[in-house]
Order: sequence, then structure tokens, then C-alpha cells
Amino acid sequence: MSRVLILHTGGTIGMTKTDKGYRPDGAYFRRAVSEMDSLKAPEMPEWDLLETDPLLDSSRMKAEEWNRIGNVIAENYESYDGFVILHGTDTMAYTASALSFMLKNLNKPVILTGSQIPLCEVRSDGRDNLITSMMIAGAGKVREVCIYFGGLLLRGNRATKDSADGMQAFRSPNCPPLATAGIAIQYQEASYPSVRSGRFECIPFSNVPIGVIKVFPGIRFDLFEPIITSQLKGVVVEAFGSGNVPDEGEVLLPILEKAKSSGTVIVVCSQCPQSTVNMSAYEAGSILKKAGAVSGMDMTTEAAVAKLYYLFSIYDDPEQIKFNMERNIRGELTRSEDI
Ligand code: ASP
Repeated sequence: MSRVLILHTGGTIGMTKTDKGYRPDGAYFRRAVSEMDSLKAPEMPEWDLLETDPLLDSSRMKAEEWNRIGNVIAENYESYDGFVILHGTDTMAYTASALSFMLKNLNKPVILTGSQIPLCEVRSDGRDNLITSMMIAGAGKVREVCIYFGGLLLRGNRATKDSADGMQAFRSPNCPPLATAGIAIQYQEASYPSVRSGRFECIPFSNVPIGVIKVFPGIRFDLFEPIITSQLKGVVVEAFGSGNVPDEGEVLLPILEKAKSSGTVIVVCSQCPQSTVNMSAYEAGSILKKAGAVSGMDMTTEAAVAKLYYLFSIYDDPEQIKFNMERNIRGELTRSEDI
């Protein structure tokens, strides 16, 4: 029988109502899980439950918490066949992306899940999300960090939260689901990476200053100059379409050149969830390329942010970071030669 470790980190699934709104409630969650008959069914893996202290609304997650989750997996790696991380939906895609980079040579399933409606409510989606995630973690077929939610198993570093109201809260616009859970769980095994031969390792993230700038019509790039050129180590620019920005060069180019000389890495992602950045397609994008920005290709902003943290944690040289930003490291981008 396989063994799964459940790590409860907070999020709606284990929250109860207070007069200030829903809040994580460890005692309630432990009791609810211990009373769930489905978790004792013979087709379920054996499981243990751990929880982080404090339990958090996922809006409060940051590199320190990602490291803590990574450490729990590393410390228990040999004792379990798979891991289920219960997490709030708001930043689940960031944590999934971060763990995908942090956990090198991962050969076991790490499945993040949660719910839109807490377990304490009658219509909670948490029960199915938890039970199906445990079955997927126990089956051991997907040996990577994934999000399971609302019937879809998605590659963690391709996923993005796409609905705050619907039960299918996530999608991975540039990568098909790794499995779908209808009457049966149907795995798309052809899309899985081969078994990794290196030694499993958890690489902690340094807390480097990273930022995201969403471009909008009329953006005053000059107002962002101090943060781009000196305060941030890495900036994800969410540009229009295939990587376009509203500037003719006279303001942005000198800022980007200054950023380059101070070692800030600029990564261009798209505001369109389904897209691949190609900064050479339009004149409005070529300025970014000319100034040494790197293409995020079809990465989500979540993956690009997590990848910047990861690369800044292992390299000092910005050129090495830029080179690796455009490489496929953990399945986070579809490598195209057209960059
Ligand atoms: N605010 C909650 C969280 O991210 C939302 C959720 O879990 O769905 O922790």
C-alpha cells in the first residue's frame, strides 16, 4: 500500500467562519479529516497529516513559506510515495511553480489542492479535491509538482488561477492537462517527463527583490525607473499580446539600458494567457529585445516570478540568469527557436 503525506498550509479548504470572514482553523480541519469515511476506504493510500504553523491565507505566502514546504517534502521524501499540499487558491500557482524549481530531480507526485468552498460548508468542493489528489499522489504516475482542482490535473508551473467563483479555478492555457478526473482518472502519460536519474535535492530560495509590472495604455515608464534600475533584481514585464510595449524608445530604452548595467534581469511575459512572447514580431516589442530583455515565451507570470527567485538563488551572474530564463528547466515553457 502506498503512503501519502498531507501537508495542510492553510487556505479556504480548512477555514471556518469568523466575524471578520473565513480564517484557517487547524483544529476544525484535523477533526473534519479524521471523520471523513472516504479517507479510510481500502482504495485510498495510507496517510499522515502535518500542518504548518501558522496556517495561512495563501495571500500571505512568500519565499520563506515556499522554503518551509520544500523542506517538509525533503525531510519526508524517503518515507512517502507522494505528497498532497493543501493550500489556498489565491497563490497556489505561485507555490506550485516555486516548488517545481526548488525540488530538483523529483521522482514522486507533489499535488497541490484546496477548495473554493470550505470543508465546513455543505457544498464544499474540498472533499473531492482532497480525495482525488490523494489517489493521484498514491498512484505515483505523475512524478512532478501539479495542481489538482475541479477534475483537472495540471502541471504546476503551467497553471494559473482563472476563476474566483467557479469550481474549476485553474487552467494551464499553454499546456494540456496531465490527467482528467471524470468517472475514471485518465492520465495523459505521453506528456510526462522520463524518470530523473540525479539525486533528489531541495534548493532553498533566497529572498531576492523581484517585481511584476503590468503594462497599460499610457504607462509612464519614467515613474518606474528607480525600482527597475536599482531596487529590483528581476522584473517580469507583462506586456501586450506577443510582447509589445507602448513606447517609442526615448523613455524606455535608456531605463532598460540602466537596468542592464545594474544587473536587473527583465523578463517579458504576455498579458494574454494563451500566447508565446515574440519580441521580434512588432516594432513595439523589438525595443525590449534591443535593450537586453529576455523572452518569457509561453511561461505564466507565476512561473516567471518563481524561476527568477530560483535562478537568483543559484547564480550570481545576470547573464547566466538570462540564458537560463529562456531554457526549459522543469517543463515550464515550450521551447521555440523563434526567440
Ligand atoms: N484567500 C484564500 C486563500 O488563498 C482563497 C482560497 O483558498 O480559495 O488562502
